[in-house]
Amino acid sequence: MLSIQQLNKTYSNGVHAINNVSLDIPNGLFGLLGPNGAGKSSLMRTIATLQEPDSGRIEFNGLDVLRHKEELRRKLGYLPQDFGVYPKVSAEDLLHHFAVLKGLTQRSERKEAVEGLLRQTNLWEARKRGLGTYSGGMRQRFGIAQALLGSPKLVIVDEPTAGLDPDERNRFLNLLAEIGEQVVVILSTHIVEDVTDLCPRMAMISKGRVLIQGEPQAAIEGLRNRVWRKRIAKAELTDYQSRYTVLSTRLVAGHPQINVFSELPLTDGFVQVEPDLEDVYFLQLRAARGV
Ligand code: ADP
Repeated sequence: MLSIQQLNKTYSNGVHAINNVSLDIPNGLFGLLGPNGAGKSSLMRTIATLQEPDSGRIEFNGLDVLRHKEELRRKLGYLPQDFGVYPKVSAEDLLHHFAVLKGLTQRSERKEAVEGLLRQTNLWEARKRGLGTYSGGMRQRFGIAQALLGSPKLVIVDEPTAGLDPDERNRFLNLLAEIGEQVVVILSTHIVEDVTDLCPRMAMISKGRVLIQGEPQAAIEGLRNRVWRKRIAKAELTDYQSRYTVLSTRLVAGHPQINVFSELPLTDGFVQVEPDLEDVYFLQLRAARGV
């Protein structure tokens, strides 16, 4: 269990990137969902002990993380947002190299770990190829393979699905869910479906603050009977946006289809729909913006 209490960080330019954040994160895949600039990377880097908060506490299975950084790092697997690779080096060679850095100095043990991870991430066949020839999805899977060296108990992956096609994204998320069965895996993302599909728990953040945390399903239940849908004409959109709490607009066969939040039943062509996590997310973001 990872426990974060009243964490704060203000950068020298005055941005309050982590604003009194408290989170409890059990084993399993935990989705940290928020728009660009919400503070996800700042929070991830702080948990990964790459930067200091101004105040607050982080505890991992009883370990005071901010006091015992080295100890946390031994338990940590981290895939940063801007994970770079050496294009000419093969996946196998680079993974061996990272394994040595992780302290796997014994050759047979290292070989076994590297082979196991290449197989687990489905890169075994491509292990001799230079990383420069890999697709985006393969590169991210390689990123996870290096993060998993040394059997970490805490795995942090920062926006790993950005830029992946749907197939690669699915494969990648399934891999994360598998890993999450035994350890804490924190996945930061701005893509709602990443969380809906696989995360048993999540938090939504914006402007450094936690908006809600818990089980996605419970948050969705909270909107039951209060989300309404209607297809409208393009010219009507501004009018609807001023009269209703419009959560989202989607073009269906060229016409806007809006999802609206309303406590009271809506008639006039609206139909009630099953809420989903996207409705929760947009309602939370609206509330955070004070609209
Ligand atoms: P996210 O990962 O959700 O996109 P970030 O943690 O990268 O969010 O950024 C949160 C806010 O902090 C943004 O306003 C960003 O511009 C600002 N920020 C991030 N890193 C720094 C930094 N090193 N110095 C100053 N401001 C920063």
